[in-house]
Amino acid sequence: MSSQVVSQTSYEIPKTQRAVTFAETHGPHTIQTDWPVTQPSELKPGEVLVRVVYSGVCHTDLHAWLGDWPLENKLPLVGGHEGSGYVAFIGPPLEGAEPCTLKVGDAVGIKWLADSCLHCEECGKGFESSCGQAKNSGFSVDGSFQQWAVSWGAHLTPIPAGFPLANAAPILCAGVTVYKALKEAAILKGEVVVIPGAGGGLGHLAVQYAKAMGYRVIAIDSGAEKEKLLASYGVTDFIDYQKGDVVEAVQKLTDGAGAHAAVVVASGSQAYEQALQYLRPHGALVCVGMPPNADIRANVFWTVVKSHRIIGSYVGNRQDAIEALELAAAGKVHTTFTIEPLANLPSVFERMHALTLNGRIVLDLQ
Ligand SMILES: [Zn+2]
Ligand SMILES: [Zn+2]
Repeated sequence: MSSQVVSQTSYEIPKTQRAVTFAETHGPHTIQTDWPVTQPSELKPGEVLVRVVYSGVCHTDLHAWLGDWPLENKLPLVGGHEGSGYVAFIGPPLEGAEPCTLKVGDAVGIKWLADSCLHCEECGKGFESSCGQAKNSGFSVDGSFQQWAVSWGAHLTPIPAGFPLANAAPILCAGVTVYKALKEAAILKGEVVVIPGAGGGLGHLAVQYAKAMGYRVIAIDSGAEKEKLLASYGVTDFIDYQKGDVVEAVQKLTDGAGAHAAVVVASGSQAYEQALQYLRPHGALVCVGMPPNADIRANVFWTVVKSHRIIGSYVGNRQDAIEALELAAAGKVHTTFTIEPLANLPSVFERMHALTLNGRIVLDLQ
């Protein structure tokens, strides 16, 4: 591993770099040592070259490689969308737009939403991830599994001063996603949110954000190890879904009233059906976890009479990313991760696919 990459006022930009790529869906990964670096003169208006220092590995990266989503990605592809690093060069401003407010050497994050038009109705309302012209890092454009990545100045997320870049990486997708989902629930401080899948990669962050936002958390997962992990975040209400009736257990913990919200990060469809049974009137079911080929079956009569809200939540916007990082930098949210070299990526995917991965992996690109 070479010397540590730090914030500088200018960077010497090489012609080639290390990267991990794949040329065909579910094909072999190639550990590139001389992958081309986009040169400053080649940057288009609005583009910024980022010296990536760390990149988290998300389940979405695995889906992109497996090609099991009903969406098409670019090929060959450099994946990755939890990149943290430094601005290395700023391309020309977009026509009619204000110059980029970032400076060379600023710590920034590359998230799933790489760019959006910022002019359409969705962008105007802050639903940037739904923009028809959205670009996605490590999917429709090359992402953060490379040392020098092209990204877009308007969408790079500033990383708070002093917050370690390795810790910031998992917040840029997993953290933003669960933080946004909790916001979408629109509940009040002190109210009860149930988190099915609480002990997983998204769940352990969701629990901490929920507590930081002042909600009472009921965590659902299975096994003594998960219970212990969640207890370390101050969660006292834990339901083991393999031991007894989940709906009854939630009702009991809420004195029969039910929960104000459920943020489902579990990847089993049962968690959705159970949530609709334990939510109190006007309760929110926020859908985040995506079980393959699953439907949500909600009884129309009870949905109306109980005024249940069923909400899909997909990553977050620029402001959500800033807030999610601020809460983490303030010490309210701790990411559990292991640092591995970039060349381990194929093995990380194998372990992720075999479900033997414990906690998140952050790749070192120094
Ligand atoms: Zn992700
Ligand atoms: Zn737009």
